[in-house]
Amino acid sequence: MASAAVSWFGDAMNAVPLRKSEVMPQGERVVTILGATGSIGQSTVDLVRRSNGRFRIEALTAHSNVAELAKLSRELGATYAAIADEALYQDLKDALAGSGIEVGAGEGALVEAALRPANWVMAAMSGAAGLKPAMAAAGRGQIVALANKECLVCAGEVFMRHAAANNATVLPVDSEHNAIFQALGAGQPEHLVRIILTASGGPFRTATREQIETATVEQALKHPNWSMGRKITIDSATMFNKALEIIEAFHLFELRTDQIDVLVHPQSIIHGLVEFADRSVVAQMGAPDMRTPIAHCLAWPERIEGPATQLDLAKLGQLTFEAPDPVRFPALRLVREALELGGAAPTVLNAANEVAVAAFLDRKIPFGGIARLVEATLEMMVRGGTAGAPANVEDALAVDHTARNTAATLLPEIALKAS
Ligand code: NDP
Repeated sequence: MASAAVSWFGDAMNAVPLRKSEVMPQGERVVTILGATGSIGQSTVDLVRRSNGRFRIEALTAHSNVAELAKLSRELGATYAAIADEALYQDLKDALAGSGIEVGAGEGALVEAALRPANWVMAAMSGAAGLKPAMAAAGRGQIVALANKECLVCAGEVFMRHAAANNATVLPVDSEHNAIFQALGAGQPEHLVRIILTASGGPFRTATREQIETATVEQALKHPNWSMGRKITIDSATMFNKALEIIEAFHLFELRTDQIDVLVHPQSIIHGLVEFADRSVVAQMGAPDMRTPIAHCLAWPERIEGPATQLDLAKLGQLTFEAPDPVRFPALRLVREALELGGAAPTVLNAANEVAVAAFLDRKIPFGGIARLVEATLEMMVRGGTAGAPANVEDALAVDHTARNTAATLLPEIALKAS
């Protein structure tokens, strides 16, 4: 079994060539995909399918989509398939009868999948349920391609400390962070000045404060560039998505908050930039297709052929940029306050935002109420001194739970309050 005995951060920043024999014995990478049936999971599967047997599948997991999990497990020759919903154990067993593929169900089975002997694990389960399996994968000291935002947003310090202690290699899948990871390789840590995460600006990029305050669910769900799930589309409209990405970058790259900038770039072609001391700015570009950052992680430190559309800058003609506006988009101010407050503040921000987005989608609060609910929850829990830094995953999940309850109790007040 391969063992990647370097931290990805040190490796990326110092551009130290990894001893390939350590991570890719005989060119083989043994892959586990947590959340195989989801959008990121399926994009990973697509790349594996195109790879002519270069990647072998160890384990696959899903929440409840038995049919797709069984189909993928048979097609890709997995040795283990796990379904989160325990009630579906027998269904999965029946669907895989005669295949020789081992079957598991429930939270323990997801952790078991993460512990199977793969040397590359994609953590692409959505939500806080992804935390424990991702921690288990990191605990094995192998490569963890991290898509699951909650690991970093709810428990960033805990997760990164655990990964470092076990010599795990954490590769960022999110396109902006993957871009930064690629650009960081151009310099040395001591010469890094700042990173810049790009943002499309969402559907209200040019809207007035009043228009944003009273935006409808239908308007907020109309993203100019991307077709995504409802939660992340609303997060793009409020710019809480970028706020969460600032938290991710803070933990992944071990930066100060004043080293993380945001730049609105409506075309979503430049995904991230890194500025070095000599004022060189290194950017990573590409057509907006998640298979590019996933392919980068899948083959890292090598490269494989990617299926995304080739970038044609002449055809695009121009790329434009704008400064973000923290007045119209308070998420950008709140996230910096949360990071400055430290402790569990980022965990609280994330949980309150989830409650607020659900309430907005249920038409219980106005669009402008999302940020107000997050701010009120932070005020009550963190500034009130009830949210110390989580020491472990259980702590982080407990803070998440309390923050959700606090946000829920504040909801009626936000629903009534005018802007
Ligand atoms: P999807 O909703 O498309 O897929 C989620 C996957 O996780 C599915 O396989 C789903 O199984 C499984 N799952 C859902 N809930 C649970 C649970 N409680 N326990 C175990 N498994 C569960 O999500 P995405 O692929 O879009 O995103 C995955 C993660 O990656 C998220 O954290 C997201 O924020 C992050 N991300 C996504 C990006 C994107 O472009 N999509 C970009 C960057 C980050 P089933 O199919 O059975 O429900």
